[in-house]
Amino acid sequence: MILPGQQMTAARKKIYPRNSPGRFRNLRNVLSVLLQALLFALPWLQWHSRQAVLADLAGRKLYLFDLVLHPQDNYFLLLITIIAVLLISGVSTLAGRMWCGFACPQTIFTQAFIAVERFFEGDRAARMRLDRAAWNGRKIRAKVSKWIVWTIMGSWLGMTFAGYFLPIRDLMGQILSGHVELNTGLVVLFFTAISLFDFGYFREQFCQHICPYARLQSTMLDADSIIVGYDSKRGEPRAKLKQPDRGACVDCSLCVQVCPAGIDIRDGLQSECIGCTACIDACDSIMDKVKQPRGLIRFTSLNELEGRPTRVFRPRLLIYSGALVLLTGLLLYLMVTRSPIGLECERQVRPGGQMAAITADGRVSNVFKVHVVNRLAEPARLQIRVEGLAAGEVLGTRNLELASGQLQELQLLVVVPAASGRGIHNFRFVATSQAGVQVSSQATFFVP
Ligand code: SF4
Ligand code: SF4
Repeated sequence: MILPGQQMTAARKKIYPRNSPGRFRNLRNVLSVLLQALLFALPWLQWHSRQAVLADLAGRKLYLFDLVLHPQDNYFLLLITIIAVLLISGVSTLAGRMWCGFACPQTIFTQAFIAVERFFEGDRAARMRLDRAAWNGRKIRAKVSKWIVWTIMGSWLGMTFAGYFLPIRDLMGQILSGHVELNTGLVVLFFTAISLFDFGYFREQFCQHICPYARLQSTMLDADSIIVGYDSKRGEPRAKLKQPDRGACVDCSLCVQVCPAGIDIRDGLQSECIGCTACIDACDSIMDKVKQPRGLIRFTSLNELEGRPTRVFRPRLLIYSGALVLLTGLLLYLMVTRSPIGLECERQVRPGGQMAAITADGRVSNVFKVHVVNRLAEPARLQIRVEGLAAGEVLGTRNLELASGQLQELQLLVVVPAASGRGIHNFRFVATSQAGVQVSSQATFFVP
């Protein structure tokens, strides 16, 4: 209950994470370099003379290498989203917040910004002293230098993020020529400002208050999930090194000082923990110094910490895996069998309930409703004809010009000679593009 005079939220206590070298830090660094290289390089990759990965909001298209998705392909996006959610749920159930600690851009870029801060302002204690100190020449130099480098990093990040939504080569051309269109400039500025605010200031608060994945963690984790955990059975009672009858924890507080989330892992599993492993490296270094086995803080599970065996295969993981295999198979099937031109035809009943009519020149005609969609990345000129219908012919519109992603619905009149046999005749509509792409759709013709 909020009492009069109390605030709804506590003021944020700034966190000064201490540097924590170690084997997990090295692993994170390698992964961070690889993932950053991927993130920065991907928008520059060309595919068939266009950007390989681009969410073209203005053109309402999503380019993913050979796959070009239009608004009418939303089932693809739905399928990709469900697969991503299942993947994240499965990985979280198995390995806790491994994604957050090792691969999330929020963690990677926050760490990069902190590294710059450390370079100009020093490690934890020096930064705390500097922030407490009155403004002087040294403080101004350190802060201004840091913000200059952060701004360069933020701008590059802003341009890269914007490059996933606007063609990055045009964007770079505009920036280099000094003639930046207003909309383009605003998009880049938006992403630059978000990067600076988030990685320079907001940091752990994003994980704690905004990220939906972090909020859902508690529903995905179970007692067998791999977490970063403190072995309280071994560590407690914590006490300084010279104290008798103490546990393995020497109460040095290094694990707390290195934590970018500002928590004490010894208090147990907490939703703020992003599994970054900084406390493992820190505690291992202390264990080495006091000549005790490493692993007082380690990758473990709640069951293992309680002395019970950890199960890897459990029902919910098997359900996630089965659903993932099925849906990924379905996605691949849809991708492989997806035609670049969509064609669907349906015979229409005329007003008055007639299935066929006789034309002025004595031939039999049927009306068909035809849906054509161009799923190619470029415009398509299409010619529509019939095949498998003796002396059959399409009257009227046979040539179409469709923009990329355009869907057109039209009515086509198909005629056959009056001497054609009575009954239902199977045939197919064939659409051929100027580039030689050919698709067909089965239909039936009725001769009364
Ligand atoms: S408790 Fe350890 S693993 Fe969790 S966020 Fe803090 S330092 Fe990282
Ligand atoms: S770093 Fe290890 S020894 Fe030091 S306080 Fe944390 S758990 Fe205890």
